Amino acid sequence: MPDVEWWQDVRRYLRQRIDAGEPVVLVPVSGRVPVAAGDSPTLEAQLARPAGEAAPKAADDSIERVAAEVSACTRCKLHRTRTHAVPGVGPHDAGLVVVGEGPGAEEDQQGLPFVGRAGQLLTKILAAVQFKREEVFITNIVKCRPPGNRDPEPEEVAACEPYLRRQLQLLQPAVICALGRHAGATLTGRVESMAALRHGEHRYEGIRVFPTYHPAALLRNPQWKRPVWEDIQKVRAAHDAGRETSAARRAPSG
Ligand code: URA
Ligand code: SF4
Repeated sequence: MPDVEWWQDVRRYLRQRIDAGEPVVLVPVSGRVPVAAGDSPTLEAQLARPAGEAAPKAADDSIERVAAEVSACTRCKLHRTRTHAVPGVGPHDAGLVVVGEGPGAEEDQQGLPFVGRAGQLLTKILAAVQFKREEVFITNIVKCRPPGNRDPEPEEVAACEPYLRRQLQLLQPAVICALGRHAGATLTGRVESMAALRHGEHRYEGIRVFPTYHPAALLRNPQWKRPVWEDIQKVRAAHDAGRETSAARRAPSG
């Protein structure tokens, strides 16, 4: 639906400008954004930063609170078909946050991210540069499984993104690794091929973002092993270089 994509692009663009600290004035012309009927949030609802973004100012927010809200969330229609929501898992001082697309069947059953075949490959990719899985925070763009593993729809991504934003604000990792096209597009604000995305410099909430191919895609396309290997080495290097700064940002002042 072109209207939806158009709005998503504008919204993402504005969000990036706001993240970059530029003044952005939004003037709602009509009461509703041009999204599909159904569960679509209103413009006011989206801009007022409901659920996720509205809420708790930093000091009151926590990873546990985000997880509890996700588990009870009904902001998009994916809640109707989920078994378990999958908020994400990992240490709260993780220097690296890995963001996938959305839970699959196995993840939906267990309530944990990346526990199926793609997850096993992810563990190996991380291990190749000496990241233990337990030291990485792992989550997804949408926290509930899209039925039949279809792509998440733009409204679903928009409804769920505030949770990811809060998680990243709380975690303040040194780097984010975005797995696949959807995570890549959401976290960079650019709808481009992975071949193009992985060469750019990107930030989300001020945090460096490294997009690479999704391990599920890698299972089908072994020719992407080499670029993934290159990308995960960049992640390691940026992580090590940025570790102290991110720890300092996270530390409570005073
Ligand atoms: N694929 C994803 O993108 N995320 C998961 O959690 C599992 C598979
Ligand atoms: Fe809520 Fe996200 Fe699940 Fe949709 S996918 S119901 S927005 S937690």
